Amino acid sequence: MKIFIVEDDYSYRNMLFKLLLGWGYEPMACDDGIEAWRILQQKDAPKFILLDWNLPGITGLELIKNIRNMKDHSPPYIIMVTGKSEKESLVSGLDAGANDYIFKPCQNEVLRARINNGRRMLELQESLEHESSHDPLTGILNRRAIAAVLNKELSRAKRKQEGLIVGFCDLDNFKKINDEHGHQVGDEVLCGFVHMVEDSLRSYDTFGRWGGEEFLLVMPLFSRDDGLPLFERLRNKIAEGSIVTSAGALKITISIGVVFADGHETENEVLEAVDRNMYEAKKAGRNRVCYTETI
Ligand code: GH3
Ligand code: MG
Ligand code: MG
Ligand code: MG
Repeated sequence: MKIFIVEDDYSYRNMLFKLLLGWGYEPMACDDGIEAWRILQQKDAPKFILLDWNLPGITGLELIKNIRNMKDHSPPYIIMVTGKSEKESLVSGLDAGANDYIFKPCQNEVLRARINNGRRMLELQESLEHESSHDPLTGILNRRAIAAVLNKELSRAKRKQEGLIVGFCDLDNFKKINDEHGHQVGDEVLCGFVHMVEDSLRSYDTFGRWGGEEFLLVMPLFSRDDGLPLFERLRNKIAEGSIVTSAGALKITISIGVVFADGHETENEVLEAVDRNMYEAKKAGRNRVCYTETI
């Protein structure tokens, strides 16, 4: 696990660095509040911070307030490690959002135990975050998480004046698979279908389970011409392939409702449009893609 040391005192910083290395962590260090804030705003910012109070640029206390004000963010675990040992400072550090507070100098064993404790908290937080955003059967994003992605992508499309294509996929006659082979085999088909789709996604596409046998695909678009063929290829790949289950190899088809968006639409408008188009695809005989250019 990466641990970010923000400390302007050279020798204390070095000592912490060596201790963390010895305990099996991956330390990284910085001696300045402004640089620390820049690093902490990056996408894969460290999740564990040992933070000094008095720093050039931005103080440790201000850094904590900034971090706790960040939205859409899984919060890091912050231990203030500071020479400010009066009760008032400890209280303001914790009130601002520090998870823990250690007076300098501190015994190595105490620091090691406090860090260990923080790591357990972070692991728990990460597993709860994963559970609340993923579908337990297929392992992909659940409805809440894919809806959040759709919202984020709509805002991004509007901001950057780029397009977006959204597809709502529904397995055709899926109830029949459950009826003929049992629910367990139905589950295997859902997982096999997810594997097939994931294999054909680009790194910036997102796929989530909307519920039951319904899935949402959100794809940023660089050119409108790229959009529909992606879904047509996907539909075809599913129809041509088969899914290996405990009841043998089974074939399925999907119906997909697709819509283009440019970010001026609301989440609900997009969802209603893809749902409508998916029903059009069902009405037209299933195993097809139906789309509208604009909402
Ligand atoms: P259509 O082509 O019109 O979509 O027909 P369909 O049979 O796919 O649709 P319908 O809505 O009638 O049935 C969907 C079925 O999906 C019913 C439900 O039991 C099944 N289902 C939903 N979630 C799960 C799941 O997690 N596992 C399994 N095995 N089946 C599920
Ligand atoms: Mg300092
Ligand atoms: Mg359905
Ligand atoms: Mg269905």
